[in-house]
Amino acid sequence: MHKVVETRVPGPCPSCNTQIEYLYTTENIPYFSDILIISAICPACGYKFVDTQLLKHGEPARHTLAVESAGDLSVRIVRSMSASIEIPELGVRIDPGPQCQGFVSNVEGVLDRIEEVVKGALRWGTDVEKENAAALLADIVKVKAGMFPVTVILEDPCGNSGIESERVVEEKYVPPEE
Ligand SMILES: [Zn+2]
Repeated sequence: MHKVVETRVPGPCPSCNTQIEYLYTTENIPYFSDILIISAICPACGYKFVDTQLLKHGEPARHTLAVESAGDLSVRIVRSMSASIEIPELGVRIDPGPQCQGFVSNVEGVLDRIEEVVKGALRWGTDVEKENAAALLADIVKVKAGMFPVTVILEDPCGNSGIESERVVEEKYVPPEE
């Protein structure tokens, strides 16, 4: 059973202090941890907040998944705001930051997000950046076709992220010192 529980919590908007509602949605997914999605939109200033977290983890963890076929594209990924995602074969790393929202997606969704960012570089980048962007887009097409195996590495110092696959390798993650 896929169960969804919603709770509304009032709180001030971090941007303009208007009293707004934060929506806490808990999703229960079989064979996977509960997922908490916290979201809010401020009607006064347009501030948007989304974070997603796994509820049953808690230890700093690194999750590694070998993406080897087109079938792996549907593997579900929960990324909290504190997590980074790296695909070394593509030279891509998404670091946590204030602009970076948490999400529940799958491998294909993560590739789509990277594609969007890279397409921006195609429009506004220098010649070298445009060349690199075009090469990266071509590689992403191959990954999606299952012709270019890559590794997805999800690191979360708060342990609230995860990859839903039997083949995922989980290990303790020691965050680098500042
Ligand atoms: Zn606001």
